[in-house]
Amino acid sequence: MTELSLRRQICEIGRRMYEKNFVAANDGNISVRLEANRVLTTPTGVSKGFMTPESIVIVDLDGRPLSDGKPSSEILLHLFIYRERPDVQAVVHAHPLHATGFAAAGLSLEGCVTAEIIVTLGSIPLAPYGTPSTPKLPDTLRPYIHHHDAFLLANHGAVTAGKDLWEAYYKMERLEHYAHIILISRQLGGEKILPKDDVQELLSLRARYGQTGLNPGCSTCEDDCIGAACLNYENKYDPHSEDLIGAVVARIVERVRDARLG
Ligand SMILES: [Zn+2]
Repeated sequence: MTELSLRRQICEIGRRMYEKNFVAANDGNISVRLEANRVLTTPTGVSKGFMTPESIVIVDLDGRPLSDGKPSSEILLHLFIYRERPDVQAVVHAHPLHATGFAAAGLSLEGCVTAEIIVTLGSIPLAPYGTPSTPKLPDTLRPYIHHHDAFLLANHGAVTAGKDLWEAYYKMERLEHYAHIILISRQLGGEKILPKDDVQELLSLRARYGQTGLNPGCSTCEDDCIGAACLNYENKYDPHSEDLIGAVVARIVERVRDARLG
């Protein structure tokens, strides 16, 4: 893939994001790795619907510009994901209406509801609020970044990661489509969580669709215990994590406190 074709892909994806109402005005940003320490990213202050290949900016992994133009204000979020996830080649950040509605309401999309999402994205956690364009925002992804490719950002929007630009973008499309479906199902009485056996069968199909490695998210330890809300979450997907005991203890303390308050 040449640098020029990556620049063109960023412009095409920006155009689609703008047309689909995933962003307003100059919102959103897109990036892709060029090499180990160089990243192509959208410029700041430009509508993603009207970018040109020449306007795309190059930065290093510390965010230092290596070309003319000023990088996206959310470049720290992108660079954090590249540093934490060597497998990720592209990142898309946007404010799609339905996904951002869930993020603004403080609701994650972690339930095992539709087959397509269980097989492709798995659960979609809600990262707590962090001030945009500061290191506080990427910090909020720390507990989730090694388990997921799609995230809601509380009171802000969504971010997705992929092995190339189109994969990252299609994950954003999927996330937004799914958020819309869940909203409609709640208007019709609420979504039905799939039983554990059906979820496990779907998870076993992931490899067939090239979805290997990452946490599919929908924990099946108990029917009412899903995604990051599950006590076994870290244990199941990151058995070597040094933070495992701390994470489990913190979760127990949280539950005891909630039980007392409740
Ligand atoms: Zn944003």
